[in-house]
Amino acid sequence: MKIGFIGLGNMGGHMARNLAMAGHEVTGFDVAGVTAEGVAQAASSAEAVAGADVVITMLPNGQILRAVATEVIPAMQANACFIDCSTVDVESARAVAADWPLSVDAPVSGGIGGADAGTLTFMAGGSEAAFAIAAPLFEIMGQKAVHCGESGAGQAAKICNNMILGATMIVTCEAFALADKLGLDRQKMFDVVSTSSGYAWTMNAYCPAKGIGPQSPADNDYKPGFAAELMLKDLRLSQQAAEAVDAATPLGEHATQEYAKFVEGEDGMGKDFSAMLPRLSAMKRG
Ligand code: NAD
Repeated sequence: MKIGFIGLGNMGGHMARNLAMAGHEVTGFDVAGVTAEGVAQAASSAEAVAGADVVITMLPNGQILRAVATEVIPAMQANACFIDCSTVDVESARAVAADWPLSVDAPVSGGIGGADAGTLTFMAGGSEAAFAIAAPLFEIMGQKAVHCGESGAGQAAKICNNMILGATMIVTCEAFALADKLGLDRQKMFDVVSTSSGYAWTMNAYCPAKGIGPQSPADNDYKPGFAAELMLKDLRLSQQAAEAVDAATPLGEHATQEYAKFVEGEDGMGKDFSAMLPRLSAMKRG
């Protein structure tokens, strides 16, 4: 298959390489001039997509996605499929689909490690026909793909998941900070909570306390992992969506404010999102 791949950054570079390694003819473009192993370099987005059966984008945000879509759609061949894997607002995903109906919004979970290893999870929105074209490529770049519904459903699933993740991480960190002050040993707290009704992915699989549970960014000085600023981006998308459809998300709103303070008012930028634990440990009530 001929694939045009736009956005060869931390995630896209690995994804494009994995597609090329699987035998696809991949031509890429990134404004930063970066490329990926096995990927031919084009001089523009339009050049990258010319003659492609599938166009994949992996870009920073919805505004950039819309600009790139405006540029590439006139250059795409008639039956090509447009797959956007970026995390963007639901409206931008739907706007692209309105301009190019054979399209899939397919944000991912699994981070840079998952992109490198080809073990991402894809949450996809779009028609059955578009999903059928994308599915074999998701199999190369990932380990699981869920067709969530029509256009925008993939982005909706992603931001709902990450709203749970952000709020759960904060409360998991709060529990450790409280336990410390109550004199409860962190390992004992993990042993109880990870096998009791408080268990959560943030406790069991990605414990924010150093030396407790499986290896996590806490064991590596809170180097990301999943950076706090990316969590803030996703929480803001959840709040933008909640506002658009008048949904009450009080904890999602609060989690957004906490990550905004951490990233923009304190020293959270560039740290893993689980570094909420040292932040909360150093704070006093009120
Ligand atoms: P990144 O900033 O490393 O990569 C984005 C790339 O897009 C950059 O290389 C940039 O130069 C390029 N770009 C920007 N504007 C462009 C344009 N007009 N034309 C061509 N290229 C352009 O970001 P990333 O970490 O690879 O993330 C990409 C997307 O994946 C984001 O939407 C992010 O939210 C999402 N995501 C990231 C992670 C993660 O752990 N990094 C996890 C899940 C989802």
